Amino acid sequence: MLLSVFVAMLASYTALSLAGRVTETEGRASTLWLAGGAVAMGCGIWSMHFIGMLAFSLPIRLSYDLLWTLVSLLVAIGVSAFALRIVTRPTIHRLDILLGGVLMGAGISSMHYLGMAALKMNPGIYYDPAVVAVSVVIAVVASIVALWLAFTLRSAYGLVAQVKKAGAAAAMGLAVIAMHYTGMAAARFGLGSICTATGGVNADWLAMLVGMAAMSLLTITLLLSVVDARLAARTANLVDSLSHANSQLHHLALHDTLTRLPNRSLLEDRITQAITASGRSGKRFALMFIDLDRFKTINDSMGHHYGDKLLQEVATRLTSGLRAEDTVARLGGDEFVVLLAEIGTPTGAGTVAQKLLEVLAVPMDIEGQQQSVSGSIGISIFPEDGTTLRELMSNADSAMYHAKKVGRGNYQFFAPEMNAAAGARLQMEQSLRRALERKEFELHYQPKVDVASGAVVAMEALVRWRCPTRGLVPPNDFIGVAEEIGLIIPLGAWVLRTACEQNQAWQVAGLARLRVAVNLSAYQFRQKDLPELVAAVLEETGMPGEYLELEVTESVVMHNPQDAVRILEQLSAQGIHISVDDFGTGYSSLSYLKQFRLDTLKIDRSFVRDINSDADDAAIVRSVIALAHSLRLQVIAEGVETAEQLEYLRALECDQYQGYLRSKPVPAAEFEAMLRAPGGLMGPMLPPATVAHIGRAA
Ligand code: C2E
Ligand code: CA
Ligand code: CA
Repeated sequence: MLLSVFVAMLASYTALSLAGRVTETEGRASTLWLAGGAVAMGCGIWSMHFIGMLAFSLPIRLSYDLLWTLVSLLVAIGVSAFALRIVTRPTIHRLDILLGGVLMGAGISSMHYLGMAALKMNPGIYYDPAVVAVSVVIAVVASIVALWLAFTLRSAYGLVAQVKKAGAAAAMGLAVIAMHYTGMAAARFGLGSICTATGGVNADWLAMLVGMAAMSLLTITLLLSVVDARLAARTANLVDSLSHANSQLHHLALHDTLTRLPNRSLLEDRITQAITASGRSGKRFALMFIDLDRFKTINDSMGHHYGDKLLQEVATRLTSGLRAEDTVARLGGDEFVVLLAEIGTPTGAGTVAQKLLEVLAVPMDIEGQQQSVSGSIGISIFPEDGTTLRELMSNADSAMYHAKKVGRGNYQFFAPEMNAAAGARLQMEQSLRRALERKEFELHYQPKVDVASGAVVAMEALVRWRCPTRGLVPPNDFIGVAEEIGLIIPLGAWVLRTACEQNQAWQVAGLARLRVAVNLSAYQFRQKDLPELVAAVLEETGMPGEYLELEVTESVVMHNPQDAVRILEQLSAQGIHISVDDFGTGYSSLSYLKQFRLDTLKIDRSFVRDINSDADDAAIVRSVIALAHSLRLQVIAEGVETAEQLEYLRALECDQYQGYLRSKPVPAAEFEAMLRAPGGLMGPMLPPATVAHIGRAA
């Protein structure tokens, strides 16, 4: 009896496991699982019957008729196939389970009574109708419960599912067993009954054989289903991680790694889509080019790590300032592009641009430093400013350049004239490249004046471009382009050589011995051979190093302080003076300022301009002077245009000044005339400063 119970439970458990395989696999595999499952389960239920018969002892020898036995086996397999079929349907109705349960119960009962018929008893077995009915009801109810359990279980996972499955299998097994023994209880064998199934199969042997075979079959099937489930799970895992890796690669290919914003590829794709969509709907969209103002300076002076953090913050702010359907992309560097999907009127894009500028203007906290940035925005509108990707991009870019030109921190809509400006720039590049060999550059000189005595003590050489078509071009209009096209290196060397030559010529001619200051571009300062170049020029021109001064901007030396310390040391070893130009506009680390071999801090023109009216500027100038003096450096103020400015500087004990008040930068001949004029270097003495003046300004 126990063995029959065990076989029934094992068969049920296998059936439940197989139901899972049938649902989780597809096509041929699913059909095979169904067929194999039906055979295994059918054999299981059927063998349970024969093992159960072993527990039933009659005083006579029993054997089974082969045909009826096989028929009962086929019925068991058929019932199993039917049950598996039902519970593995994608959806199932309550009625289906009921009907299925009835059919299955009938099947199980038929199998039982067919098995009994195989005994071929004589006289025939008498069955108690009531008990038979009970056994059929038990089979039907058990089947319904089994079907329902199998159906709900197949989608469950994990340990809970395993426990449930085992419980369900036990319940089902017990139900089948209950049916069998109830069926047996219904059977009455007449006295003197004999088994006429002679030549059939000996009952003991049959039961043993069937039992062993069924258990092996069930076990193998069960193992197979577990292995298959494991394999399937592993495959699913692999597929999962593969598709995850795939989507990550996909994301990487379309996004910028620093800010996680879409990159150029994705942006271009979205623009192309927008062109198609807007072409169909007739609605406008806008493209914005955003370039951060002075990002290069911040990046150079604060380091790349800081710059990266800043870009990330900018990305976050831009994204938060826009709708979800808009696209913010980063093209690289500090260039961002916004695609505004669907705008009503072009002015709408202007409103958004203004909002973005305001969002950026709020000071950011980057590594504990308050940092504010401004941006310049250029806007192109579809379809007015272009109907192709290329047109829209290049026009937004032109508009952005225009925004920078008119003073940064603003936005500009594209206008056709702007392309003319871009064309003009290209022309400028071309003529600038030829300007050096055509000897179109010249140097102008501006005196540096001692504040206390009014005497000229040095001069700054400032380059000019005498272009045949443009006239005299100021450096601010071409130095940037010269830097971009690499011309600054030969041009800078030319300036250095010419300034030294000129100064040496004046000294040889017996004129005043003045120091000449030459501006160095960041690109020149980064040239490895700068100290060698300077030494070579001094050697060639014969001018002693002490008459040369090099002006470098704050951001240039702070960009890579360790290197700067070394370069400045090599230069000052040659007797050369070093000034920090435009001091106050960048960021200086005091500890480095102390390490650098410097001679002079040059207060930027922008602070001097309003020194008499702006208390903040006055305070900055005062503290720069105090700082310089505490570091034993000289201070020179540039851009001094009025006597009031000079007077104020004198009160603050500024050492030197430079500005239109004394002289604009003038051509060499004119400067030479001043050198030759008797007393030409002496300035008008100013009246002593009064305390009242200072008090008013501050
Ligand atoms: P910077 O080195 O700050 O030169 C001072 C600029 O201020 C000069 O402009 C000068 O003409 C102008 N300036 C002098 N006094 C006054 C004044 O009282 N008021 C006003 N408003 N401006 C005054 P410039 O010559 O146009 O040069 C502009 C910039 O171009 C220079 O600024 C310098 O950064 C760059 N630069 C000039 N020459 C060279 C050069 O040979 N090499 C390099 N790399 N840069 C140069
Ligand atoms: Ca300068
Ligand atoms: Ca300057």
